[in-house]
Amino acid sequence: MTTVAAIIKPTADAPFEVGTIVRRAPRANDVVIDVHYAGICHSDIHQAREEWGKAIFPMVPGHEIAGIVTEVGDAVTKHQVGDRVGIGCFVDSCRECENCLAGEEQFCLKGNVATYNGREYDGEPTYGGYSKQIVADENYVLSIPEGIELDVAAPLLCAGITTYSPLKHWGAGPGKQVAIVGMGGLGHMGVKIAHALGAEVTVLSQTTSKEEDGKRFGADHYYATGEEGTLKSLRGRFDLIINTVSADLDIDAYLSTLKLNGSMVFVGLPENTQQFRVFSLVGGRRSLAGSNIGGIRETQEMLDFCAEHGIGSQIELIGADEVEGAYDRVVRSDVRYRFVIDTATIG
Ligand code: NAP
Ligand code: ZN
Ligand code: ZN
Repeated sequence: MTTVAAIIKPTADAPFEVGTIVRRAPRANDVVIDVHYAGICHSDIHQAREEWGKAIFPMVPGHEIAGIVTEVGDAVTKHQVGDRVGIGCFVDSCRECENCLAGEEQFCLKGNVATYNGREYDGEPTYGGYSKQIVADENYVLSIPEGIELDVAAPLLCAGITTYSPLKHWGAGPGKQVAIVGMGGLGHMGVKIAHALGAEVTVLSQTTSKEEDGKRFGADHYYATGEEGTLKSLRGRFDLIINTVSADLDIDAYLSTLKLNGSMVFVGLPENTQQFRVFSLVGGRRSLAGSNIGGIRETQEMLDFCAEHGIGSQIELIGADEVEGAYDRVVRSDVRYRFVIDTATIG
């Protein structure tokens, strides 16, 4: 066991503090990773503030982890000391249910082991990436290809795969009209990836304040939903809408912008129950769907795709003492476009 410095949330109401946690000694299939960077996902905020229900405290959030392997267990074959690696939203799964066998471990029927705010199958609580070191089974550790710097790679482990997976599943590509709702951490990755897949990309943001950046990331069109009549003017326009918004939305208004057979896919996870009129679907044989991160195989595919297309996240690098302020800025939609913690600043 090793004592490791970490950024810890003692309770939902208490501010973060720097302290220590204990990491297990590596087992035969484990790799020990020196965490260099950890992204701040809005899901960290939802959980650290208990917006999704009861959470496990003390909490060390962080499921966008990039670092270097420093030690490997005896049976490890996939990674070596010195490898550039990443960890996303889960660190284990049952490995035998039909979804795990299909490489969709994010939908493990037993329930996978979340990277933090979860429990290992032996009951031990998990602690995430806002820390100097993490120990995990090699099968849940991704390879970060040469060509993507570790700091801009970290957010790919959640924001990247969460947008890549539905874009692929619902066939984003040449000839397809794709809308990305919300230009935050997930949204800006959605724009970059949808553009690289060859789709025509529209951003639907609350304002046009980030239009220049959106177009630089690959958006062809950019509209402010806060302006009267915007969604009405886009009626019947999109094949696919990826909704990354963390708050309540007028779903009927967005559904009306779908073409015949179009799909609106939720990846944003607001705490409240959402509502829509069934007429909004039936009128155009439309689908309302959801998507959750991605499996290990697809996450590796996404990392390789991003390296090939020169895609990283647009980040603001921060120190350990800036996490509270960063959370407040994310909640105010004032993030450009992902905060990443430089773990060298912890302890
Ligand atoms: P984020 O950086 O805060 O981005 C969310 C964006 O939504 C904001 O930047 C803002 O974009 C827009 N928005 C915020 N409040 C809004 C409101 N009241 N009305 C309309 N638009 C609003 O958050 P994120 O890290 O990308 O995460 C987004 C959501 O996805 C969170 O709920 C998170 O928990 C969830 N998530 C889900 C998965 C999954 O697997 N399904 C994975 C990761 C995260 P504009 O300023 O451009 O309007
Ligand atoms: Zn996340
Ligand atoms: Zn399983």
